[in-house]
Order: sequence, then structure tokens, then C-alpha cells
Amino acid sequence: MPVNEGFRNLRGSYLFSTIAKKVAAYKASHPEAEVISLGIGDVTRPLPQAVVSALHSAVEEMADEKTFRGYAPDLGYSFLRETIAKNDYQDRGYDVSADEIFVSEGAKTDSACISELFSLDSRIAVCDPVYPVYLDSNVMAGRTGACDPVTGQYGNVIYMPCTKENGFVPELPAAHADIIYLCFPNNPTGMTCTKERLQEWVDYANRDGSVIIYDAAYEAYISDPAIPHSIYACEGARTCAIELRSFSKNAGFTGLRLAFAVVPVDLIRDGMSLHDMWARRHGTKYNGAPYIVQRAGEACYSEEGKEEIRGIIGYYMENARIIRDGLAAAGYEVYGGENSPYIWLRAGKSSWDFFDEMLERANIVGTPGSGFGPSGEGYFRLTAFGSRENTFRAVERIRNL
Ligand code: PLP
Repeated sequence: MPVNEGFRNLRGSYLFSTIAKKVAAYKASHPEAEVISLGIGDVTRPLPQAVVSALHSAVEEMADEKTFRGYAPDLGYSFLRETIAKNDYQDRGYDVSADEIFVSEGAKTDSACISELFSLDSRIAVCDPVYPVYLDSNVMAGRTGACDPVTGQYGNVIYMPCTKENGFVPELPAAHADIIYLCFPNNPTGMTCTKERLQEWVDYANRDGSVIIYDAAYEAYISDPAIPHSIYACEGARTCAIELRSFSKNAGFTGLRLAFAVVPVDLIRDGMSLHDMWARRHGTKYNGAPYIVQRAGEACYSEEGKEEIRGIIGYYMENARIIRDGLAAAGYEVYGGENSPYIWLRAGKSSWDFFDEMLERANIVGTPGSGFGPSGEGYFRLTAFGSRENTFRAVERIRNL
């Protein structure tokens, strides 16, 4: 029975499973150790009260036969799509309408599945280091070649190094790329891209016929007015870009699950409307995010919801400042953590050696930069998503090393 050969090309296990196994083994042999995790990008603050109230009243509606709802519309309830289009786009002066919003359960799912729109012959370009989902989903789909054991790179993929030298914003690819994955504020480096630099990418994609998948899952962390909140801030983005957003990192929906993709109606390739293709795909493979969760998403845009979300972001960004300042004072070279919850630090040794040292000597879990790609070697990612107390304790332990 032939299987999907793409899976044979996958290198090792998913990064976070490897880390979890190492941490579990360490805890088993050191049961007294108080391990603090600043590793995986999960949030810790509870849901905003506005969201909790919306959930409660939506549950009450579901309990009453007069207001009960069954299957949600495939593409999302219009109350949510309209609220998103107005608040995230139109109020900021970006041209995106409600029927271009596709509600889903997660940006991970969207970023892994969006490449179904493109032929298996198309060539992807990814940042290096990169959020592993973009790459692994294309490997599984069979769009890449095998992984070179020496370089750690898959065949038929354009890797765009993001290094200290280029400010962690990649150069335009030298060869033609069909699908370009960009993520700003970036996971894992925590760095951002100015509107001018992003405009260069949009111009490139329009010139070359590429499509940009712009992952803006961390948009809410931007405080610098020079940093765009959406790729649609750039002229011409409607003809070359799909944007992915999530409620996970701003409103704490990592366990509740809600996200959306923007696919503009102007995005045409090979005579086909990517908007219509994604609508068809969504309708065929997805039965819609739960009503109660979509009501919870809508509540994020109420005045109370916005205020509470500002509070949550402020909490995490204060953690980011504590980590940045603490590590810088301890002599580390640190990046990110200013418009992003991620701090990217130079390890001064191999990423996995640093991981082991942090785990064993400080009982702190971070993420080895090399797990995000070859150019992440020598770096280490810490996140600001912990509690304030654990953040202080972790920084103190690192400083005492
Ligand atoms: N995109 C990026 C860049 C992420 O870092 C993450 C989660 O860590 C996601 C998407 C996943 O978002 P969601 O929880 O909506 O699936």
C-alpha cells in the first residue's frame, strides 16, 4: 500500500515534541527541580472578562431551542467577519471587506493548509530561521526534496537567511519563488519589518507573479508606529498577498481556537481566483468555527474587550522588557522583545548545548534557535508568555549562572 512519500522526507520530529521529551526526561531524573518554561509560545493569562461573558451568553443561547445554532456558515458568521473587517482593516485605512475574511480555528491550520491552493510544482521561499509549520506542511505535501543531512536544508526550497547582518529581515530571493512565507512580528526572532521593506516584497511578488503568505499572528504586539499592522498597508498587496491572523496571542485563545485568513478578491493566478478557490476549499473541508467561539471573538472588539487585551499585551511586554534588560545586563546580545513577545539571544555556543546548559544549570526551558532552521544555530529563543513571577525568577537564574 503506497503511502504519502512526502512524510519520508520529514527531518526528525516536530521541534517542540523533542523539547518536551528532553524536559520530561530531566524532570524524571531530577524530581526536586523547579523547571520554568519560557520555551513554547503558549500564553498564560486568562481570557478577558468580555470574552468570558460572551461565551456564557452564547452557551445560554445554545441551550434554548429558539436561539440554538447548528452548523456555522463555512466561512464564518457575518457578525464576526464584519467586525474584523471594520476594526482590523477599514478603521486603519486598509482596503479589506468582510467577504474577504475566512474565519477558521487557527493560524497554524491555515498556514499549514494554504499551500493547497498551489500546484505541487510550485517553489516555496521561507525565512531561515522559520516557524516550522510552513516548511513541514510543504514537505508533507511533497512539494520539497529530501533534507540534506549536511546543510539541514530541504531540496527545492529557497531559504532566506535572517541574520544579525540583515537586521533579521530577509533579502529578496535571487531565484523565482512562487509562494513566499513572511511572518512579522517574527517568530522566532521577535524582529519586525518596516513598511518600506515590506513594500519591496509586495512589489517583488507583483512583478514576479509570486504569492506572499503573510503571517501576522503577533500583530497586536506592535507599538512602534513605523511598523505596519498588516501587509495591506502596502500598495498592491491585494493582488499578491494572503494574510493570516489569530486570536491566540492577543486574547489568549490558544485553547479556545479562533483565527482568520484574508484572501482578497483581486488575487488571481493562472486565471483562477484564489479567493473563490479558498472559499470552495473551506466549504469542502471545514464546517466552521463554533458559534460560541465566534461570539467570543466578536467580544474582543468591544470597548471592554479592547481595553482588556491592551492590558494582556502590556503584561507580556513588561515581561519581555524584564527579559531583554536582564539578559543585556548579564552581557548577552539580545534581539526582539520590543514589538513582539519573543526574545532572540546569542547563545555563544551551539543552540542545543545552550539548551542543555539552561535546563541543567538554571532549570529553564527555552527553544534552541537551530530548531527553526540552520541560520538559527547559535541562537536561543525565550518567550514573554510566562507569569511575571516566573519571568523574574528565570532572569535571576540566568544572571546568576
Ligand atoms: N503563526 C505563528 C507565527 C505562530 O507562532 C503560531 C503559534 O505559535 C501560530 C501561527 C499558531 O496560531 P494559532 O494558535 O492561531 O493556530
